[in-house]
Amino acid sequence: MFFQTGPGGLSLYHSIQKNLNQAGTKFKVKIFERESSPHDRYQGCIMNIYKFGVSSLFYSLPTEVQARLPDAMPDPIPNIERHGLDVFDHTGKKLLEMPVYKYKNVFEFVQLKQKLPWFFIYRNTLREILLNDVDVQWGKKCIRYEETDEGVCAIFEDGSREFGNLLVGADGINSPIRMQKMPNLQVKDSGVSYVVTDVYPTKKLANQLISICGNCIAQESIGQKGDNHITLMRLIPIKSELENREDQIYYRFTLMYCELTDTLLELWSLVPTDTPESMAKTPFKMSIYPKIRQMIDIDPLSVTSWETSRVILLGNSVTFQDIESLTNELLRYESDGWKVCIQRYEQEMRARSSKISLKSTSMLLLTIKEYGYFGIIVRNLIYKVFNVLISCLPYDLVDRLFCNLYGVE
Ligand SMILES: Cc1cc2nc3c(=O)[nH]c(=O)nc-3n(C[C@H](O)[C@H](O)[C@H](O)COP(=O)(O)OP(=O)(O)OC[C@H]3O[C@@H](n4cnc5c(N)ncnc54)[C@H](O)[C@@H]3O)c2cc1C
Repeated sequence: MFFQTGPGGLSLYHSIQKNLNQAGTKFKVKIFERESSPHDRYQGCIMNIYKFGVSSLFYSLPTEVQARLPDAMPDPIPNIERHGLDVFDHTGKKLLEMPVYKYKNVFEFVQLKQKLPWFFIYRNTLREILLNDVDVQWGKKCIRYEETDEGVCAIFEDGSREFGNLLVGADGINSPIRMQKMPNLQVKDSGVSYVVTDVYPTKKLANQLISICGNCIAQESIGQKGDNHITLMRLIPIKSELENREDQIYYRFTLMYCELTDTLLELWSLVPTDTPESMAKTPFKMSIYPKIRQMIDIDPLSVTSWETSRVILLGNSVTFQDIESLTNELLRYESDGWKVCIQRYEQEMRARSSKISLKSTSMLLLTIKEYGYFGIIVRNLIYKVFNVLISCLPYDLVDRLFCNLYGVE
């Protein structure tokens, strides 16, 4: 069985070792990655991961790997950070304050019964944790595969080939494996792109932002012309640089671009624009150039015919849940046979992935829609009414309401 080294492929590797191999079923897993080494390119900014994804991640990881998760998902700092989401209009007025769920750390977080609270995760650190002690064949770009009745052969750019029983395409949104298996399954471009980067503001600048917008760790401002700015921040001093002066203490923020106020402009001015050597002066000492990310997704139900074969795809937006479902099905690999197991997995994955993909795209489009003068007044009013409503409702009801909006069951 083969796959690649994104969070999806690596979590599936751990899940197979923990839930299948240690339980007696023996799957021999090989991992092939097109990048030449673990540090070939910057491995991502701060991402949010919903509670249902964290639950599936815990299901996949053995306890010793779970124990390292706080490195990628550091504990909330009481009274300093507020773990919620605040939405502002273009004048800086707060429109919405999403409920805050209290938890001390990721281990308490995963026990919450709600599904939609989220936790910030440093993607690069998560990947390092997942890669630890995993044998990966680097510099192996899969260009296509050949399937026979006996198995499937992955073919790499360097001319080498590997034969196995199953091939898992955990190779991301532009997966060549998916393109070969399902050429008609197109990625859906929402037409929205964000400029995304990490910056390391000093404590002084972070305090300036907090004095204006508060200490909520996710802040979104929605403008008049479909413009949108998201700041994701953790107010954890970066230890290696720690001294007593405010201009020597750094934090890590992820910014997603739109219209800029003066303080946001100052944050963006910290983004490196010259050589990689200049990065050596930053606390993280690695390349974090801004990247344009198109908001694209895949709706697996957009194609009706889907032939179950030895080539398995993971959904994009709900990867961790897919891994849990796939592992559960593979538990019955020997009794039911590979085809039946994969068929059942695909049925579940396609319905779930499609629903979440469609709902999250429509929510995104609502945020960046251009409304016109009166439209903005109505939109802001709706936000404010909604804000009052969710502040009066019990947590569980708010959670169910949002699960509905985002297509989570
Ligand atoms: C470098 C990187 C940085 C990212 N940063 C962010 C971020 O900051 N914020 C955010 O929200 N999302 C980010 N993402 C996307 C996010 O990680 C994914 O949407 C989500 O985690 C799904 O994970 P995945 O494992 O299915 O796919 P991915 O995380 O996309 O991983 C796919 C892996 O497959 C490898 N691969 C691709 N093609 C081949 C091939 N032909 N042969 C062999 N290997 C191949 C890739 O190099 C990669 O390691 C990033 C993805 C990558 C690859």
